[in-house]
Amino acid sequence: MTSSQSAAARSVAATSLADHKPHGMERLADTRLYRPFAFIGGRWRSAASGALVEVTNPANGEAIGHVPDMGREEAREAVEAAKAAFGPWRALLPQERARLLRAWHEQILAHAEDLAVLMTLEQGKPLNESCGEIAYGASFVEWFAEEARRIEGEMPMSHLPGRLMTVRREPVGVVACITPWNFPSAMITRKAAAALAAGCTVVVRPASETPFSALALAELAERAGLPAGVFNVVTGVPEPIVSELVEHPLVRAVSFTGSTEIGKRLLRQGAERMKRMSMELGGHAPFIVFPDVDLDEAVAAALDAKFQTTGQDCLAANRIYVHADIVDAFVARFARRVAALKIGDGFEDGVEIGPLMHERAVAKCAAHVADARAKGGRILTGGTSDGLFFAPTVIAGADETMDIFREETFGPVAAVFSFRDEAEVIASANDSRYGLAAYLFTRDHDRICRITEALHTGMVAVNCVKMTGHPIPFGGVRESGLGREGGRHAIHEFTDLKYVCAAYRAA
Ligand code: NAP
Repeated sequence: MTSSQSAAARSVAATSLADHKPHGMERLADTRLYRPFAFIGGRWRSAASGALVEVTNPANGEAIGHVPDMGREEAREAVEAAKAAFGPWRALLPQERARLLRAWHEQILAHAEDLAVLMTLEQGKPLNESCGEIAYGASFVEWFAEEARRIEGEMPMSHLPGRLMTVRREPVGVVACITPWNFPSAMITRKAAAALAAGCTVVVRPASETPFSALALAELAERAGLPAGVFNVVTGVPEPIVSELVEHPLVRAVSFTGSTEIGKRLLRQGAERMKRMSMELGGHAPFIVFPDVDLDEAVAAALDAKFQTTGQDCLAANRIYVHADIVDAFVARFARRVAALKIGDGFEDGVEIGPLMHERAVAKCAAHVADARAKGGRILTGGTSDGLFFAPTVIAGADETMDIFREETFGPVAAVFSFRDEAEVIASANDSRYGLAAYLFTRDHDRICRITEALHTGMVAVNCVKMTGHPIPFGGVRESGLGREGGRHAIHEFTDLKYVCAAYRAA
């Protein structure tokens, strides 16, 4: 079943939102952050058809609420609203745009706990991880509020007599942001804050599994005073809305985070209109451990790099390579730590592993485990599931014939490979269509320089796991994507260069 089919299956018949009582929203201190509507041109809207998409809590399968199932027509209206808002937004002085973005940032921080609750309800991740994501997502709004004032051009030395040459950056126009469910808030702010700072207006189409985080951000943008039409959110089954956004001539840039498969499809669609396309796609990170490191530190790092967001993370360590001299000791300690991870509802104290998002995610984990077992892998812990909860799993003795060597698992299954030398591990790590991130653990400075240069990825973490944040250019090479998010480079995704050559008379 494809994503769009699964969402379509949850679309319910034309009905009134008033007939649907939300579950779990009583946890919110500010209940107006639960917004079961789309947000277009500064108005909270239902679908013309009355159709709804049900949103469920993956921890217990209960419906937590519904959002309108908008279609092509409403997506078009959102683009037109964003286009109408573009002229005045672009005309604001940068410090005025910065002030509004700062106000949005303050609103997000002031309601961080509620935003985290909404996220755990619809995404299932442990509440402390949701809190972390809200802070992480907010940091992009703050960073780009600051960057709004530092969008600079160039004045090349003229190669022609009597000419003043300037190159400036201009906002591209309306930007469509299409985001996944694994980071329901930060993937929106990382895109939208950069686009807004550049002077663009935005239409967000959040994943149908996690629309409430996006809608709460819209509510807070409105409270912060962002003008109508500057930030729009269109909810519903993906295909018609996303197709309209990618094909509409007024949308000048598309920023997508999701699977490589859908990313390629959108690139083909966008090519017809020569759109600016930025793509943050799948990852298959190698995690390489040499014997000169502290074993317990490496084990703790592998735990972090693999199991955050229950393994549903594009940065997840999908191929753990451990030097043959220490691999037995490593897997024994690693499996012990993994077996002790606490699984459960993200609202329970101490929970470290939440539910997966879909049954197809559970099926993929189970298939990777079964395939590895059949090919000689040893399952040291886990390998079983209960509903959407998949027990964190360690596969020892993984090799390159296994599906898990080629495919992103996107779940809590850790495969440990062993290697003998540097050349072998570099060749294996690079033997992938993906190239988002890599992790390297060694104390040998020369080796760090050689391997970071040799790895074909957009990002490398050396002797650490946490590497992302607002100032860095996040993104991959190969089939992990195009373009960068975060840092100064992100502004480039949403601006065009304009060169002006002005003749002047000599005195
Ligand atoms: P996905 O299925 O590609 O979905 C991503 C977005 O595309 C969602 O909004 C989805 O809507 C929408 N979509 C689904 N089918 C579509 C269609 N036929 N036409 C148009 N839009 C469609 O990916 P996912 O499973 O949600 O996310 C997991 C993937 O994202 C993984 O590969 C992961 O590595 C990648 N990811 C990458 C980054 C990064 O920064 N590089 C960050 C996070 C995730 P629905 O959800 O409503 O189906």
